[in-house]
Amino acid sequence: MKLSSPILALALAATVTAQGETRDAPIHDADLQAMVDKAVPLVEEICGRKFKDRPKARIGEIREIYRLMRGEFRAIYSHLYPKLDDKALEQLVDLEASVTAFSLFGKWIFARSTLYVLPETLKATLALDKGSKPDVRSLLQIVVAHELVHALQQQEIGLFDRFLAYRDVDALDAFQACVEGHAKFVDGEIAKRLGSTAEAEYWRGLFRYEKFRNRVPLRDLLQRSTRKLNEFRYLGGAEFVRGQWKQHGAEGIWALLKNPPRQTATIFRPDRYGHEPKPTVDLAGILEGLQVHFGRGRWRTLTHSFGEARVRSEVLWVEPEDLDPVLADVIASRELEASRAAITLKGRIKLLVFRDDSAAKRFLELAESSAQNERVNFAKQPGQKWNEFEFADEPDPKADEARVHRIRVKPTLLPAVHRLTIHWRRWGRVTVQVDLLNLKESKADVPKMLAELRQRLVAKKLVAE
Ligand SMILES: [Zn+2]
Repeated sequence: MKLSSPILALALAATVTAQGETRDAPIHDADLQAMVDKAVPLVEEICGRKFKDRPKARIGEIREIYRLMRGEFRAIYSHLYPKLDDKALEQLVDLEASVTAFSLFGKWIFARSTLYVLPETLKATLALDKGSKPDVRSLLQIVVAHELVHALQQQEIGLFDRFLAYRDVDALDAFQACVEGHAKFVDGEIAKRLGSTAEAEYWRGLFRYEKFRNRVPLRDLLQRSTRKLNEFRYLGGAEFVRGQWKQHGAEGIWALLKNPPRQTATIFRPDRYGHEPKPTVDLAGILEGLQVHFGRGRWRTLTHSFGEARVRSEVLWVEPEDLDPVLADVIASRELEASRAAITLKGRIKLLVFRDDSAAKRFLELAESSAQNERVNFAKQPGQKWNEFEFADEPDPKADEARVHRIRVKPTLLPAVHRLTIHWRRWGRVTVQVDLLNLKESKADVPKMLAELRQRLVAKKLVAE
């Protein structure tokens, strides 16, 4: 197998390191089966449903799981983005699978109807951790319980086919939060019953973005939105499920899984569930074709809803409670992502429409303050140098606000300098952010793109002439 991902290579290296240690006795298939037998009645009791067949479980090997997981991601993404070409699809699958594989201790593999557990990855993670050392077997027991919930979800609602039905990222994110939230909620309840509170707390901690923030700053920069989204899916989802559970019990969660929220905003605001606001503004197609201004050449593009979970995964350096009221006023959003051969060469256009001008203005302030705080935090890291950080107004008489941020950073471990340029505009209640990662821009390109976008918004009466 070709190891195209540095992240996966790192995960494998960590595994190899840990195999040299024999802190714990090896875990065999028979131990695993005992864990399944212990968890099954608890999962059945808490979920209120019975397994029709005794779930199969095996000790997995990371390369095999990685390959199987890629198959799952490929199926989901090829349905989510039907227009994506093969190479771009593989890139996306590669990124998701490698970030996920790094912290994977167990996985229900749909294609094989089998629960795989990866004790070596777990031991490797524990070996790298300088803090508390939970008991490996107790921790695995929780992982087994978690994955069994997915097995039950597959049996009860045909989980995998539901994933394949999604064509909208924000709706898929919301569904995943319900699916992972359910499993996370149940594994937490089981851990409590088994008295494994330290292990449960440790496992919860692995989903917290804070644990990784700036630990390795460049890796943080590249993986943060995936990590932050995972935090949302698992911990945010579990919070949402807990609330629904309190009101409607175990059966309420099965009903929720069959009729999940369509927007991640609802996971943050559970009172919206059941009466989510209908979109009043249609932004489909509004960003289509704008990638030509990113430069000559063939661009691979993705356009999707830019839902609240994803907005939050990017504005990371302000207090969430400051963002809450502002994001409650988003009424429509859209994103276009255009990339060349490498994932480190890309442009993105992110459009948000707010209820009124003041919410848009406030959002822009918060996003800028997040960028500023990030610079301060980044600069504190030993060995990191922000060679250049520029924060300036841009001339644009047609905009209420127009700014540019230029960040140029030479990471310690990488030969290349990374350049990120962010152009901001606010036209009344609309904000747009254009990110250019390592793209050379001519002076005219971005203003041309923004002028064209503005015209499209005027035509839709979202921006005044
Ligand atoms: Zn899960």
